[in-house]
Formats: sequence, structure tokens, C-alpha cells
Amino acid sequence: MDKPESLRRRTAPIDLTADQFRSMGHTLVDQIAELLETIRRRPVSPGEHPDDVRRYLGSAEPLPENGSEPEKILSDAFDLLTEHSVYNGHPRFWGYITSSPAPLGMLADLLAAGVNANVGGWPLAPMATEIEAQTVRWIADLIGYPTDCGGLLVSGGTLANFVGFLAARAAIADRDLRTLGMGGDHPPYTIYTSEGCHTWIYKAADQYGFGTDAIRWIPTNPTQCMNIEKLDEAIRRDIEKGCKPMMAIGAAGTVSTGAVDALPEIARICKKYGMWFHVDGAYGGFAAAVAGEGSDLLGLTQADSVAVDPHKWLYAPLEAGCALVRTPELLRDAFSYHPPYYRFDVEATNYFDLGPQNSRGFRALKVWMTLKQVGRSGYRQMIGDDCRLARALYDILNDHPVIERVTHALSITTFRYIPADLREQASSEPVASYLNKLNEEIQVRIENDGEMFVSNAVLEGNYLLRMCIVNFRTTLADIDAIPEIVERVGGEVDRALRPTVLTA
Ligand SMILES: *Cc1c(COP(=O)(O)O)cnc(C)c1O
Repeated sequence: MDKPESLRRRTAPIDLTADQFRSMGHTLVDQIAELLETIRRRPVSPGEHPDDVRRYLGSAEPLPENGSEPEKILSDAFDLLTEHSVYNGHPRFWGYITSSPAPLGMLADLLAAGVNANVGGWPLAPMATEIEAQTVRWIADLIGYPTDCGGLLVSGGTLANFVGFLAARAAIADRDLRTLGMGGDHPPYTIYTSEGCHTWIYKAADQYGFGTDAIRWIPTNPTQCMNIEKLDEAIRRDIEKGCKPMMAIGAAGTVSTGAVDALPEIARICKKYGMWFHVDGAYGGFAAAVAGEGSDLLGLTQADSVAVDPHKWLYAPLEAGCALVRTPELLRDAFSYHPPYYRFDVEATNYFDLGPQNSRGFRALKVWMTLKQVGRSGYRQMIGDDCRLARALYDILNDHPVIERVTHALSITTFRYIPADLREQASSEPVASYLNKLNEEIQVRIENDGEMFVSNAVLEGNYLLRMCIVNFRTTLADIDAIPEIVERVGGEVDRALRPTVLTA
């Protein structure tokens, strides 16, 4: 039977000619270069209502039946995104823990997509697999973890923590939970972490069937670090009740205030009770590269597993997280299956065997390339500078009577605005509640104005402004500008808000 001519000389509507690709690519790279050049002069955030953003997009438009010009699509997408996005690459972006992206990392992502290596199996991605393995070793080396550990790149800190969690389960469980599941009449496994732990632990306990009741929230000291005596007590109590303590999680920098738990102490307790010691270093793990002798951070080298987040302090563009597990075989114990349709050589690394994903993108490339560009010394310098700038802010705030500085750790500083005439009554009602409302409004106003971007923390019931510098573009001049902005916006919001909320 004759094949139709359209299959003989196939033209797929998705393809671009080499000339088209070249020309569109050059234009895009020029536009992104211009964006980087002018980023400081742009608003940090557009401060738009979701309805406006949907209108600009035309979000009600139906799926196109037929295609259209790729040149125009790319140029429209560039405009939509650059006019209606929050720029975490802006020197005054200090919200949450989202870093400015490394320019070389942007190009790396383009290259990774160009080759489109599937780093699930070695035969599909020989060089990419080896680059990922080297990246994992270099990351371990950077934070002082054994370089013969197991590990892999995942989407972010949450997934990296999940990998540690599942390795713990594989190592500690006294029955084959992967096969049997969590059902049956068995003593419950328990998990210990401080009140400052990130929400990933809820997700892990929930999604892997332990239930969030398995989490023991250990109270913190006034420095927001886990109270070690309380940890020991809680474990002892649970053992007496017949529970099975599975793991303790130490924070190498909590998400709210950057507090670093007494990691060597948690390691000691885990050893004492035969528990798994996991460190959540998604934020602060890389600060171990700059930590001095005697720092609690260095205790992460004793952990059975560590989660770090290259899309935070290694400045990788989203997404890139990394899980490290001291005993490499445990990753296989936690994840591997061998279906008949995968006949991959076991001599080589096949990452589908070592983690939750099957097909995997080449996240490691952007991390590997920037590690080469910057080196250990460059990261030491940049992470150290971020911490010094946060410290500088903490010092500067001391000279401003309407700003109360609250905490400083790693590169996070928290503070709040307190109008001079309310200072005396700040901790009594109704002023305390008013100050919470006031600072929440200040944060929203600052965010909408686009002058800078901070997020918040709640500490002892107080709503605080929180700035976290994971930003290699921030300078001392940017820090110096903060008190004036907070005082100005704070005064304006207070004048508008107080009469409606606080009737003295
Ligand atoms: C950011 C963060 C996480 C979550 O990481 P994602 O990359 O957002 O998934 C977990 N723990 C800590 C301490 C973090 O700072």
C-alpha cells in the first residue's frame, strides 16, 4: 500500500528551522541580558490583583484549534512574564527563601533542554549521569559531608527531605513497610522535630502513611533552637508508651528565623536511642561551608541524611534540591524496583533506582556549572556576605526607635514597626493585636509598592517583618535604605489604620 506523501516528507508543526531557532534564540538572549542589566530599576513586584493578571493573560481564552507564529508567542511570553512577575533576582528581593538565579544557571537550563538528557537511566544519559554524580560529591564536599555518600538531585528542599525520610524508614523499620504498608496492629513510629520545622514534615508524615500525629513537636529555647532535654524526655516517654522512635530532624537554619539546632547534641541522642538523624539544611546547609570551628552547623556531618537546596544558597535557578544519605545502599533499599522492561546495567548509576522519580531532567547541570564558575571560595564569600549584610541590618535597626529588632541568625533578620506612642503598651491588649495588624498591612503595602520585598515570621504571637538575604546582588546601600522605607510606610499605614482599629 502506498504511504501518503505527507508521511514521506513530514512537516511537524512543532519544529523550527535551524535559522528560526537561531534568530529567536539570539533575540531572547538579548532580551534576558537587558533584563539583567536593568533589573535594579524595575519594581521588585508588580503588586497586581489576580484578576488583573488573568486579564493581561486572557486566561479565559480557549485552547487554540490551530497554531500560530512561534516568534510572536515567544515575544508575547517574554512581555507577559517580565511585566507581571516578582523578580527574585532584584537586589531588594528578600522574601521567603528564594534566591536570585545565577545567569550561568539560566544558560545551563537551556543547554540541558537542548540535549534533553533523561537522567533516570545511565544508558539514556551517560555524561549527564556522571555530571550529576560529581555534583553530588561536590555538594557533600562543600558542606563537609562524606563524599562517598549516596545522593541525587530532586525538585527542591521538600523532596530532598522526603528522600531522607524514606531512607530513614528503610533503615529503621523492623518490617518491610514497602511491601506491607502501614496497616496492622503495630506500635506506631514517632518522629521528632522542633516547632520551627518547615511544613515538609507534615507532608511526609501524611503522604507516607505515618499520619501527622506521629510528629512530636519539641519546644524550642528562647533562641528558637530545639530544647535537647525536652527531646530526650519526649523520646523516653514514647518508648515507655511502646512507640518506636524512628528519626529526629535537626534544623540547619529554620525557615522563620535561621535558627540552627544543636546538631551534635541531636546526633548524640539519636545514637543513644538507635534512631535516624536527619538534618534539614534546605536553607542553611550551605552555610556550613563558611561556618567556623565549633559551630553547631558542623554537626550536620554526623547526620544519616541531609537535605540541601541548591536553588537557595547555590543560586541555581528553580528547581534544584539535593538529598545526601551517608550509606549509599540505603537509597536503593528505599526506592529500587526491578521491572522486566528495565534492563539497565547495575554497574552504572541509574538514578531511577535511587529516588522517587523515573524520567528525570538534568537539574544537576546548572548546579555543576556554577560550582565550577564560583568554586568553594566564591560560595564562601557570597554566603558570608549575605550573612554579614543581615547582621548589618540588625545593627542599623538599633538606631531607629520606631523599629524593634527581634532576631538575627545566618542571613535572616526579623523586626517590626512600633509607633513611638505605643511602645510602652506594645505587649498588652489591645495594642499587641493592633501591632500585628499594622505590621501585616505594612508588609502588604511594601510588597505592592515594589520598592523592596520582605516576608513575615510570627514569634511569640508577634507578627514580624522578616528579611532573608539569599541574594548576591544586595549591597550595603540596599540595607541602609530599609529603615527609611519601614518608617515611612509604617507611619502612613498607622495613620490610616489606627482610627479604624484602635479606638483609645
Ligand atoms: C525552603 C525550605 C524547605 C522547602 O524547600 P523547597 O525547595 O521550597 O521545597 C524545607 N526546609 C527548610 C528549612 C527550608 O528553608
